[in-house]
Amino acid sequence: MNRNTTNLLLALGTLFLVAGCFCNSDRNTGSSKQDEPVASNTTRASSNKSSSTSSDPSKKADSGDFLVEHEEVSTPKYVEIDKQIKGEKLLEKAASQLNAALSLPEDITLRTKDCKEVNAYYDPNDSSVTMCYELMEHFYGSFRSSGISEKEAYTQMFDAVRFVFLHEIAHAIIDKYKLPIIGNEEDAADRCSAYINLEELGQDGVKAILAAADAFAIESKRTEGSKKNMADEHLLGEQRYYNALCMVYGSDASKWEKLVTGGYLPKERAVRCPTEYGKTVDAWSALLGPWRKD
Ligand SMILES: [Zn+2]
Repeated sequence: MNRNTTNLLLALGTLFLVAGCFCNSDRNTGSSKQDEPVASNTTRASSNKSSSTSSDPSKKADSGDFLVEHEEVSTPKYVEIDKQIKGEKLLEKAASQLNAALSLPEDITLRTKDCKEVNAYYDPNDSSVTMCYELMEHFYGSFRSSGISEKEAYTQMFDAVRFVFLHEIAHAIIDKYKLPIIGNEEDAADRCSAYINLEELGQDGVKAILAAADAFAIESKRTEGSKKNMADEHLLGEQRYYNALCMVYGSDASKWEKLVTGGYLPKERAVRCPTEYGKTVDAWSALLGPWRKD
């Protein structure tokens, strides 16, 4: 992939809002996570749940919440980022937003922690979504390697993490809602994240998708052609990059024309992106509809 495909946020002139210092992965199907310690300080974020029953028969009952769990950090280099995330209540804010928008059949726990591996994952064994500080550091290093400043890399890291976080939330709700997914669930989770980012989070959502696209592009150069990468259940980094751009462009072709004129998204793909994005919106709107709190 050409070097000029990276640093989309800078090239497109979008604004940075977050200041601050630092994906392969994902759905955890292994057994090791089953041995993790039981939550010691799980908190129930504010919820709009009024009752577990609804008078609207088309709506599902709300019997759970997104919860936040904080664990002690044992890796010294992650103490500062952990302190920032806790201090700014980033997980609590995300849980509150999700609880205001979605009903759940049972609780889902959100956590950030040092995992001793570069990862982010949904664990169906304890119904939790985990963002590892190692992945955040990895993103930061990837962005720094593309030549941008520490501050810009830190900002892009947080933006990309928002995309990945919603990708993991997508795995969680696919599981909890028992949603039928035709095709590759990893791609479905990417599209769900793009859908929520674009439809619910406005400019912040666009920044999250473009930062993740940058991370996919940078990562793809590092791993391109490897057997492990080709066999992985995730789409190739290049595909995730172009799919992400296609979602943004498809959401508003005139607004994001620069993605095509700037040479980031080939026009042969771009011409179909509004239809492609429309199908993504239709699918996820239909799937989430019974669980949406209107
Ligand atoms: Zn995934």
